Amino acid sequence: MIKITFPDGNTREYAEQTSAIEIAKNISPGLAKEVLAVEIGGKLYDLSYKFSKDSKIKFLKFSDDKGKEVYWHSTSHIMAQAVVRIFPGTKVAIGPAIEQGFYYDFDHEPFTDEDLLKIESEVNKIIKENQRFERKEISRDEALEFFRSRNEIYKVELIEALPEGETISVYTNGEFTDLCRGPHILGSGTIKKFKILSSSGAYWRGDSKNAMLQRIYGISFPSSEELEMFLKIREEAEKRDHRKLGRELDLFSFHQEAPGIPFYHHNGVIVKQLLIDYWRYEHNIDKYQEIQTPQLMTKALWETSGHWMNYKDNMFVTEMEGVENAIKPMNCPGGMLWYKSKLHSYRELPMRVSELGHVHRKEFSGALTGLFRVIAFTQDDAHIFMREDQIKDEILGVIRLTHRIYKTFGLDYSLALSTRGEKYIGALENWEIATAGLKAALDEYGQEYIINEGDAAFYGPKIDIYVKNALGKAWQCGTVQLDMNLPERFDLTYIDENSDKKRVIMIHRALYGSLERFLGIILEHFGGFFPLWLAPIQVSVMPVSDKYNGFANEVVRKLTAAGFRVEFDERSEKIGYKIREAEGIKKIPYMLVIGEKEQDTGKFSVRQHKKGNIGEFGLDEFITRITEEKEKRTLPEGYKLEL
Ligand SMILES: [Zn+2]
Ligand SMILES: [Zn+2]
Repeated sequence: MIKITFPDGNTREYAEQTSAIEIAKNISPGLAKEVLAVEIGGKLYDLSYKFSKDSKIKFLKFSDDKGKEVYWHSTSHIMAQAVVRIFPGTKVAIGPAIEQGFYYDFDHEPFTDEDLLKIESEVNKIIKENQRFERKEISRDEALEFFRSRNEIYKVELIEALPEGETISVYTNGEFTDLCRGPHILGSGTIKKFKILSSSGAYWRGDSKNAMLQRIYGISFPSSEELEMFLKIREEAEKRDHRKLGRELDLFSFHQEAPGIPFYHHNGVIVKQLLIDYWRYEHNIDKYQEIQTPQLMTKALWETSGHWMNYKDNMFVTEMEGVENAIKPMNCPGGMLWYKSKLHSYRELPMRVSELGHVHRKEFSGALTGLFRVIAFTQDDAHIFMREDQIKDEILGVIRLTHRIYKTFGLDYSLALSTRGEKYIGALENWEIATAGLKAALDEYGQEYIINEGDAAFYGPKIDIYVKNALGKAWQCGTVQLDMNLPERFDLTYIDENSDKKRVIMIHRALYGSLERFLGIILEHFGGFFPLWLAPIQVSVMPVSDKYNGFANEVVRKLTAAGFRVEFDERSEKIGYKIREAEGIKKIPYMLVIGEKEQDTGKFSVRQHKKGNIGEFGLDEFITRITEEKEKRTLPEGYKLEL
C-alpha cells in the first residue's frame, strides 16, 4: 500500500499503481469530473499517472491557475489538430497557454474569417469525439525521425535545441501527435466551450529574421456562463484600453523617436501631478521625508551596489572624461549615498525617505505595451532605515498607508509574503528575524495573505501587494522588500545607545509602483471616468449660442477662481453634439448648459456623467457641491462592471 497526502493534511491509502484519476473517483465522483491534472512535489502530471510511492498531491481544477493552463494548452492541441484536418500538410509550430486562453502558430497563409469558423466547428467536432490524450516517452532520435518523416520542421528545430539525453514526450489524441512536455487533460470531451478570439501574423520564435507564421488565439471554458462572462469582460476591456483612453482624454502619446517613453500632454501632466500631490499628502501624514538623487552616476556606484555586475545589460551607459556613467535604473543606490552623507544615531530611526525617481531600463521593443511596459518611468520609491525592533511597526505602517492610497482609488488588494529560497545571502538568523517581522506585521494587520515559499529575492523576504481593477484584472503594484544586501555593500550603520556602530535594517517599498503603469491601471479601472478630484477637465460650460457667451464666461471665471479645471466650449456646434463629446469622449464629470433661461434666472441645470440631468443649481450651490466631492475624493458611480 502507498500513502497519499492531500493539501489539507488528510491521508488515504491505496494499492500501488493506483492512478490519480482513480484516487479522485475514490474521493468523490464530483471531484473526478472537475479535476484536470495532479500536482506532485511541485510538478504536474496527467491524471493517468500511476503512483508507486507515498506522495503529497494536489488535484488541479479549472479554478486553479495551473489547472486552467492545462485545460487551455490541451485545447491548443485540439485546435492544431483541427487546422491540420482542414488544411492537410500545414506545419505546426508551438501552442502554449497564455494568461487568457492560448494560441497556436501555423505555417500557413493568413486565415480568413471563413477559415476560422471552419476551424471552430472542427474543434467542436473533436470535442464530441472525446479523444483520449496518450502520453509516450521516446528517445531524441525517435522524436527527430518521427517529426522529420512528417516534415514538421519547427518541431525538429525545437527537438534539436534540447540537450542530449533529455526525456522527450509526445502526446497523441486521435490522429494528431504533438511534441509536448504535458500534462494534458484525460480526453477532449473535458472541453465544454471553445472560441477563437483572433488571428494575426507572428514570427517564428518572435524573431523578424524568421518565417512569418499565423497565430490563432483561442480560449475554452467548462461552461457557457464562464465563456459569456469572459467575452463580456473582454469587450469592456477593449473599450477601456488605456492607450485608446489616453488619446481620447488627450493625456499622452508615444512616438517612434522615443520607443517606450511616453510624451505627457497637458491633461496628462495634470493627472500625473495630482497623483503625486495626493501621494505627498499621504506620505506627509506618515512623516516621510522626500529626497531627489541624480539621474546619472558613475560606474563606481553601480559596482558598489552590484548593478554593474548583475544588471548592466538593462542599463543605459554613457561616458564622460574617460569615466563610465549609468543612467539610474533604480533609486536605491542613490538613496544609500544620501544615508551616508552624515552619521545617524539610533534616536533618528526609523527614517522614512521617499523619492519619486525617474528611472530608465532597457526593454525589448517587442515587449513595450503602452504605459504598462515602458523604458522610462517614475517610481514612487521609499527606503526606510530602522532598527531591528522596529521592523514590525514599520511594515505595518507601510501596509496601512498602502490601504489608504488604494482605497482612495477604489482598488481592492491582496497580500502575499515571499520567504527565503535556496539562493540567499546573509545569516540565517537575520532571515528569521526579518521574516518573523514581516509575518507579525501581516498577522496584526489581519487581512488574509498567502505565503509564497521560497519566492523571496536572494537579499531578503518581501510582501507583494496586488490590486484588482474594476474588471477583476490583478496587478502587482506595491512591494515591501527587506534588504540585507545593500546595507552591507554600502556599510550603512547607526550609532546605538552604547555608542556602538550597528548595521541598519532597510526596506525598499513602492506603492504606486511605476506612476506610468499606475496611471494606465486606473485609466482602465475607471474606464476614463476619473473621480472629480483627478479629472483633467472637471466641468464643461456650454452656451447654447454665442448670445450667452458673456454669462457663460462669467460662470467659467468663477468656477476657475474656485479652483476648478474648466473647459469653455464656445464652438458653434449643436448642444447635443457638445454634450456627447464632453461626456462620451473626454469623459468630463460635469456639464453646464447655458441658455436664455439660465442667464435670466442665474440657475442652470447640471448634467453629471453616467447620471444625466441632476437638477437645477445656482452657481454657489454648485460650487459647494463639487468642492465637497473633490475634497472627499468621492469615487465616481458606475465604473465597476456589473457582472
Ligand atoms: Zn501539449
Ligand atoms: Zn530601493
